[in-house]
Amino acid sequence: MGLETPFTGPGKIVCVGRNYADHAAELGNVLPERPLLFLKPPSSVIGDGDTIILPPESNQVEHEGEIGVVIGRTMYRVSESEALEGIAGYTCVNDVTARDLQKQDVQFTRGKGFDTFCSFGPAVVELPERDAYRELEVICRVNGEVRQHGAARDMQFAIPMVVAYISSIMTLEPGDLIATGTPAGVGPLLPGDMVEVEIPTVGILSNRVEAYEGT
Ligand code: ZN
Repeated sequence: MGLETPFTGPGKIVCVGRNYADHAAELGNVLPERPLLFLKPPSSVIGDGDTIILPPESNQVEHEGEIGVVIGRTMYRVSESEALEGIAGYTCVNDVTARDLQKQDVQFTRGKGFDTFCSFGPAVVELPERDAYRELEVICRVNGEVRQHGAARDMQFAIPMVVAYISSIMTLEPGDLIATGTPAGVGPLLPGDMVEVEIPTVGILSNRVEAYEGT
């Protein structure tokens, strides 16, 4: 399948929290028994080359480089093999997070939901073989320095399981985006930074960071 970005949508963005043991540990969290899900609003989406805006309400905005899954067909209560068949392709995601606000609230909505806090792209790339998702790696750099480097094989819940699990709760539709969790190494984004999320064979997502300066 594959899709060029930007496209209309995604209709919803479903994220997995604490899907890598090393990242759960760095934030002092235990690994969940089942995927920990939360949503980001479609209004938070930006693309490659756009600017991440740091909101004045937060003093601790952080990058989260992630492997993104884009859904290619409508799916409800599908098996793991059906889930894998229904994936249009993969993309780089930066699940930008106001860590201080996330910790203040029970829900992640405020800490994860600001405009510009969901960067993804630069394209949605279909893998040559469906099982090749196991080989995917994700690297996050800030100003050229590697901050995060994770691999799909280290996920607590593998991609087909995550997609099937989400489909048992809500119908997945073409264009929906799933952010599959971030590995260890999350850290601050400051005005003037250049943050990149790379998935080798998929692409490099680049965004400049700036402080909010009013409308
Ligand atoms: Zn995340």
